[in-house]
Amino acid sequence: MAGRRLNRRQQSRIREAQRTIDPNDPANRAGLVISHRGKAVEVEPLDPPGDNIQCGFKPSLGVIVCGDRAIYRDDGRGPLIVALQPRDNLLQRMDGFGHIKAVAANVTQLVVCLALEPAPNRFLLDQYLVSAEQQGLQALILLNKIDLLQSAEADPFELKAIYRPLGYRVLHSSIEDPASIRALREQLQGHTSVISGVSGVGKSSLTKAILPDIDIRIAEISDFNKEGRHTTRSSRLYHLPDGGDLIDTPGVRGFNPVLDPKQPLSDGFREIRDLSQHCRFANCRHVNEPGCAVRASVETGEIAASRYRSYRKLLENEAAIP
Ligand code: GDP
Ligand code: ZN
Repeated sequence: MAGRRLNRRQQSRIREAQRTIDPNDPANRAGLVISHRGKAVEVEPLDPPGDNIQCGFKPSLGVIVCGDRAIYRDDGRGPLIVALQPRDNLLQRMDGFGHIKAVAANVTQLVVCLALEPAPNRFLLDQYLVSAEQQGLQALILLNKIDLLQSAEADPFELKAIYRPLGYRVLHSSIEDPASIRALREQLQGHTSVISGVSGVGKSSLTKAILPDIDIRIAEISDFNKEGRHTTRSSRLYHLPDGGDLIDTPGVRGFNPVLDPKQPLSDGFREIRDLSQHCRFANCRHVNEPGCAVRASVETGEIAASRYRSYRKLLENEAAIP
């Protein structure tokens, strides 16, 4: 999923749509996009609140995703989305053909799900974290399947040791441990979250454990197409019983984060960003420049070697992009 802010064309399209909307027109209503499937967008009316409705939309609005705040109106031919309110952010992913696809808007928290099995890839974790930093999202590192732990190890894969000093929350969970599911629910309160991570770490199982049964059943029913065949579940925003929203993105939870090449990579690594102020050169890349405070801190162990390796690898990837 990309840590990319809106491109200029998207922004100007939204601004253009905005200009033609009269905020004082009582026919214009505000709503939250719950799901978008084909030509139908499910909208939760916000003001005044009410039951979800199916809306059409003006094609000129561009992509509409879960979490979008929509302005809709009904001029006698059914509700129609006529504008989108400006987004705080837009999560995007790269599809199998190298195209960037929007996944969800106005997200505030990225839950990076790892597990004892398959073992965490800290490089991928760091990519997710850079993506979160670029989008201004909070990140929660979740180590699932903790029940598979053989020994009484308190910090497998040193996730707590490396990431907590940086200010990231690290939580252990198991679908077999209700207390850990409660703790996860608590971390979702007050946020609009997306759960990401590679296949097999337990994202679907955790999502099922978090969401009320009734919501899952409704989502499954709405995913039968007109011929009665079951189709891939689409992304959907859920209100959680204890507060907070979860945008579930079945099928694309294992997205590859795509980083924004326009943002300095070092800003995506909190400790590198902070220390780089002490480098001799303002434009230090922390590779082989003299007087580099970052490399000095890697040598003393103040910066974890694996974090610096991730930084260097991403820097090389960036250089490879034409
Ligand atoms: P996803 O691909 O990330 O959505 O992963 P799934 O939710 O499909 O889970 C993959 C496998 O891991 C399934 O067989 C689950 O039953 C199992 N699993 C999920 N969570 C846990 C857990 O906390 N502990 C254990 N032991 N197995 C789990
Ligand atoms: Zn430096």
